Amino acid sequence: MDHKRRFARIRHALAVNKLDALVVTHLPNVRYLSGFTGSSAVIVISESENTLFTDGRYTVQARQEVKAARVLISKNPLIKAAELLTRELHNRKVVIGVESEHMTLGVRDSLVSVLPKRVRLKNTQGIVEWERMVKDADEIRAIRDAVLGGARLFDVALKTVRAGVLETVVAAKMEHAARIGGAEGMSFETIIASGKRSALPHGRASRQPIPSQGFVVCDFGVILAGYCSDMTRTLYMGRVNGAARRFYEAVRQAQLAAIAAVVPDVPVGEVDRAARLVLKKAGLGQYFTHSTGHGVGLEIHEAPRVAAGQSELLRPGMVITIEPGAYIPNKWGVRIEDMVVVTDTGCEVLTPTSKELIAV
Ligand code: ZN
Ligand code: ZN
Repeated sequence: MDHKRRFARIRHALAVNKLDALVVTHLPNVRYLSGFTGSSAVIVISESENTLFTDGRYTVQARQEVKAARVLISKNPLIKAAELLTRELHNRKVVIGVESEHMTLGVRDSLVSVLPKRVRLKNTQGIVEWERMVKDADEIRAIRDAVLGGARLFDVALKTVRAGVLETVVAAKMEHAARIGGAEGMSFETIIASGKRSALPHGRASRQPIPSQGFVVCDFGVILAGYCSDMTRTLYMGRVNGAARRFYEAVRQAQLAAIAAVVPDVPVGEVDRAARLVLKKAGLGQYFTHSTGHGVGLEIHEAPRVAAGQSELLRPGMVITIEPGAYIPNKWGVRIEDMVVVTDTGCEVLTPTSKELIAV
C-alpha cells in the first residue's frame, strides 16, 4: 500500500480546504493513511509533517506498521497531538480541521481546552473518505481476496440449510468456516432470514428453524487483511412455484439492470434508478424499501451511497455493492447482492457465485 502517496493527497486537500493541519481520529482513516491497525491512534497531517500518536501498548506494532509517518508514543495521544500542533504552528492564527462526523463532542472539548486561543478548530467532512472511494491496485487485490473468501461461505450455507435447522446454526457454520479460512472476522452480523422472516431486509440469524417451504435470504461477508466483502444470495426451500419464481426473477433482472448501469461518469443515483425501474414494471416498486448499494472497503458501508438522487459520479476503481431486493411483509423477500469494481468502460462483477434460483 502506497501510504506516502495517500498522505501527499491529504496534504493537497489541506490547501484546498484552507487548513493548516488535519487531525484524523477515525480509525479506518488512520489505517488507510498509515497502515496502523491498532485501536488507539491520532494522526496529525500538517504542511511539513505526518505524525501518528498512539499509546504504549502499540510501541512495537506502530513502529512495524507505520513507515510514512513519524510515530510518537504517549499516555494521551490526543493531548500530545495538541501540544505538537501548538509548538509547530507557533505565533500565528491557525485553522485545524477535525473529522466532525467521527469526533465526539467530549473529545472536541478536551482538544479546545488545551489549544491556545489563536487556534481555531474547523469541522470537516469526508476528506479522507473521499480519497478512499477510489481503490488503488493493492486495495482491489485485497478486496478480490475478501470477496472470494466470502463467496466460499455460500457453499457452507448450501450444505447446512435444511428444514428444521436453526438459522443461527447456519450462520455459525459459515462463521466458523470463515475463521478457519483466515478471516479476521465477519464484515457484519450474518443475516439468515428464512420463511416470513425473509421479508425483513436486515433479519439477523435467529433461533427460528428453517421452514420446509419459502425463501432464505443469506447476506454475509468476511474481513481479510482489513478489507470487507459483502454478498447476498436467496435460496428456496422446497418446490418452487410460479409465483416464487416470478418474484425471484424480477429481483434478478433488477440486479442485472443496475450492474449494466455502472459506467464511469454516471451519477450513482442512475444505478439505483435502473434497479427501481425494473421492480416498478414488475409491480414491486413499493416493496424495494432500501437503496441499491454502497461502497465497500476498509469499512462495510462507505462512500458512495448508491441511492436515489445521489449525484456522486462513478469513477474507475470504485468498489460498490449492487443489492436490490423486494420484501412483502409477512410473506416473503428476496435480495441478490454482488460486489463490483468500476472499470474504464463499465464494471467487473467480483462476486463469482451464480444467481440462478437454487431450490434446496
Ligand atoms: Zn450484504
Ligand atoms: Zn451490502
